[in-house]
Amino acid sequence: MNDSRITSSDAGPPGVRHIPDSAWQCARCGSEWPCESYKRTALRDYRRNRVALAMLMATYLHRFARDRPAAECVRAGARFLGWCRTRRPGRAAW
Ligand SMILES: [Zn+2]
Repeated sequence: MNDSRITSSDAGPPGVRHIPDSAWQCARCGSEWPCESYKRTALRDYRRNRVALAMLMATYLHRFARDRPAAECVRAGARFLGWCRTRRPGRAAW
């Protein structure tokens, strides 16, 4: 296995992916989900179909909104969708 891409944000239990846990934190690195590692991977995997990525993240946003109080959902749009059109996570998209 090539570990050259592993960074401190990849720390976590072996075999656990960067997916949301029941509290919407990353199950692997413990960051707010979607974490930077998930975003990097998703932007690479969906580089030719950002619409599909936006639709996937909209599904997650819908689930998040169902689970969380309305006050938390105010900034959830940027959290779940704001990065989908960028080449790199952390940059404003729209
Ligand atoms: Zn993570």
